[in-house]
Amino acid sequence: MPIKSTNPGVSDSGDAGIPPLDRNRLIGGGFDPDDDSGEYSLRPKRLTEYIGQRKIKENLGIAMAAAKLRSESLDHLLLHGPPGLGKTSLANVISNEMGANLRATSGPAIERPGDLVAILTNLDENAVLFIDEIHRLNKLAEEFLYPAMEDFEMDVVIGRGPSARTVKVPLPRFTLIGATTRPGLLANPLRDRFGLQMNFEFYTPADLQQIITRSAEILKVPIDTAGAAEISRRARGTPRIANRLLKRVRDFAQVRADGEITQEVADAALKLQGVDEIGLDEFDRRFLMTLIEKFDGGPAGVETIAATLQEERDTIEDVYEPYLMMLGFLNRTPRGRIATRGAYEHLGVPYRPKEGPSLF
Ligand code: ADP
Repeated sequence: MPIKSTNPGVSDSGDAGIPPLDRNRLIGGGFDPDDDSGEYSLRPKRLTEYIGQRKIKENLGIAMAAAKLRSESLDHLLLHGPPGLGKTSLANVISNEMGANLRATSGPAIERPGDLVAILTNLDENAVLFIDEIHRLNKLAEEFLYPAMEDFEMDVVIGRGPSARTVKVPLPRFTLIGATTRPGLLANPLRDRFGLQMNFEFYTPADLQQIITRSAEILKVPIDTAGAAEISRRARGTPRIANRLLKRVRDFAQVRADGEITQEVADAALKLQGVDEIGLDEFDRRFLMTLIEKFDGGPAGVETIAATLQEERDTIEDVYEPYLMMLGFLNRTPRGRIATRGAYEHLGVPYRPKEGPSLF
């Protein structure tokens, strides 16, 4: 069935009830409210449903089987990588596979060491404690974690002034799973206490296609192979974005076509959302264009670029740059960011390599 054209007199952006891509929801970490909604939850629950990241799954499979053989809790685990790649989902999978209770919190939510004491003392034996954005944990709480992770005990100060004394409070054995987009910001003593450390990589289009097909099945959206492939190529190697794009394309398919997602429908829907054929959106293009036009291709400091674009430096570094670097469009150098020839070519701007220092 052909795609219906826009109603005359109604602008594209406000038409057909298709909301534009919501940047905050795309990049937000942690639990996804619309992802965990009852029977339509897209979050994988078992290791077999967890697609891609083969190296992580293999190492984890061995560590979990060994821990089960020894009837022990799994070693503490640090997961690092850009947002939306499945760190929270993996924590869920691990707790399910280990038959352990999961307690989830985040670095910024633990304001005082007291918050952490309350969480740790209430854990069940062998529970999994998931701390998202662990690099944002406050220093005092972090130091509290060291003995808890290492010896499963806590030093609690009782009383005040000269009569104050420290008592050791035993804790249940637990597995801490820390997730971070910034492993470099973690203090060494904390990082060293994680027995297992895993780095998440961007997903291949083939893996994303599988994730999209699975999600479409759960959401009961008809989709053909070419439709799933089209979305997968434009999802920035990120399952969260793949699922979000799928939902936007589903809206489009229902309103402007006959409900089925084909390549033609996916292409038209994503064009309308400003997502290009390799997954760059308006912000990515503005970022590269600014670097090329205002800073002559770079090097330019990230603070300066962030100020020019009126965007948070952290968002630029955590969310946008990793994918642009993976595509080979951007280099991070000690002197600043540099746009590569690939970026110029993708944007259709003639490449003008900087002249080297003159010898004369
Ligand atoms: P992170 O914690 O790294 O920000 P999430 O675990 O919240 O990422 O993942 C975002 C969403 O993407 C999940 O809710 C899930 O629907 C989907 N997802 C992530 N990884 C996978 C995977 N390996 N297989 C299937 N779906 C996945």
